[in-house]
Amino acid sequence: MKGRFDLVGIGMTSQRTRNRLVDRLREKGISDESVLAAVAAVPRHIFVDEALAHRAYEDTALPIGQGQTISQPFVVALMTQTLLDQPRDRVLEVGTGSGYQTAILATIGKLDRRVGKVFTVERLGALIDRARERLTAIGLRQVRFRHGDGYRGWPEEGPFDGILVTAAPRIVPEALLEQLAPGGRLVVPVGADTIQQLTVYDRTDRGIQQTTLDQVRFVPLVKGIQ
Ligand code: SAH
Repeated sequence: MKGRFDLVGIGMTSQRTRNRLVDRLREKGISDESVLAAVAAVPRHIFVDEALAHRAYEDTALPIGQGQTISQPFVVALMTQTLLDQPRDRVLEVGTGSGYQTAILATIGKLDRRVGKVFTVERLGALIDRARERLTAIGLRQVRFRHGDGYRGWPEEGPFDGILVTAAPRIVPEALLEQLAPGGRLVVPVGADTIQQLTVYDRTDRGIQQTTLDQVRFVPLVKGIQ
């Protein structure tokens, strides 16, 4: 298919290149087979600028315009694997960006239903329209997009069984904890502008339980929309 997004792939964007990325993620400790299958299935090169398409299957973050980045595949895989310690029916992503993480979640939904419906919120209108176009181009339609401030979550659609935040607040937004269903899990990088702690919040019978994972680097979660 030719058109706005080149889905055929040229050399550096081939299935073999994509499979090498999967091998790297496996070596780095990603063991969830449906996460790995989704990374193999989603064409990351259509989520980055054309000029950077040849680098799309390196395990690295890349610029996507508006001062934002598409996350490093390892971090996407780690966060998704952490969110999916059990199936999650309603999943909210905060920070749609390019839509790559959204596509990984929606693909897992298609492959083995460990994800049900995906909701995604982005504060920058220019990015969310492009993300929606990309997901439509690769046939992922079970996603609802919202141009809004993810600090507030998506109260009309909550509660959620899983929430994944791909930009970093200094402290965890109260609204996101409130929108966690019983048994629900929130995965979020929390901390300063330059380096954060990947943090997991579980809503259990005994209240919210917090676990800290690796150090990560995300762009800050910013209030208000543009
Ligand atoms: N998941 C994305 C990562 C994008 S970077 C991907 O796979 O490409 C983080 C994104 O969070 C940016 O697009 C940024 O605009 C967005 N963001 C920052 N603050 C936000 C907020 N309060 N609400 C919604 N999105 C926000």
